[in-house]
Amino acid sequence: NPTLDAPLAEAWIRALAAAVDAHQRELTDLDSAIGDGDHGSNLHRGFTAVLAVLDSPEDPPEPADAGAVLGRTGRTLISKVGGASGPLYGSAFRAMGAALPPSPATPAEFAGALAAGLAAVRQLGGAGPGDKTLVDAYAPALAAFEQAVAAGAGLARAAEAAAEAAEQGMRATTPLQARKGRASYLGPRSIGHQDPGATSTALLFRTLADVTG
Ligand code: ADP
Ligand code: MG
Ligand code: MG
Repeated sequence: NPTLDAPLAEAWIRALAAAVDAHQRELTDLDSAIGDGDHGSNLHRGFTAVLAVLDSPEDPPEPADAGAVLGRTGRTLISKVGGASGPLYGSAFRAMGAALPPSPATPAEFAGALAAGLAAVRQLGGAGPGDKTLVDAYAPALAAFEQAVAAGAGLARAAEAAAEAAEQGMRATTPLQARKGRASYLGPRSIGHQDPGATSTALLFRTLADVTG
């Protein structure tokens, strides 16, 4: 049963970058319906920069631990993505990185890091459950991850539970009226469309399940 070490963290981020690339059009189309049509391109730009950073040697050298990988990911997203999603995801990864121990993280330690990531999103964006944002995928995914770990699951099973919960939360954003972000400007016209950020958060947890499973 794997722990979260630097190679696994890097594999996760690379898989997420590939998923963003594969789903760029879908994310942009969703954002065209209730936002400004840039969610796919925002994340694509951000993760292209993240890959370049992961491929380049660190200066000054950082210890090869999972927290450093996620911290670099977060800082790069914050600096390269202008849209709401860059600072939000960037803060989440930065907070996850800061919460991880220098040694490979146990499933319980990783649950704590995921919780720190959600706390950072909520502190920055002020969205709660039901506001039709990425929180509606992240919060149930975190709850499922924590519940699985408390029941004795390893990283792979906890990540699979989180991915399924994120996908369910993503689909459940469709009937909601947006109360945060650009989609909220549409008022009731935001109803009937799946939230783009909840969709990319489902990719985040699906790729975690893919690399740990
Ligand atoms: P922008 O809205 O600046 O164009 P993106 O299109 O990249 O940025 O991201 C839009 C997504 O960001 C939304 O679908 C939503 O999930 C998420 N989002 C927007 N505002 C918030 C917020 N305050 N809290 C949490 N998530 C938010
Ligand atoms: Mg947008
Ligand atoms: Mg925008």
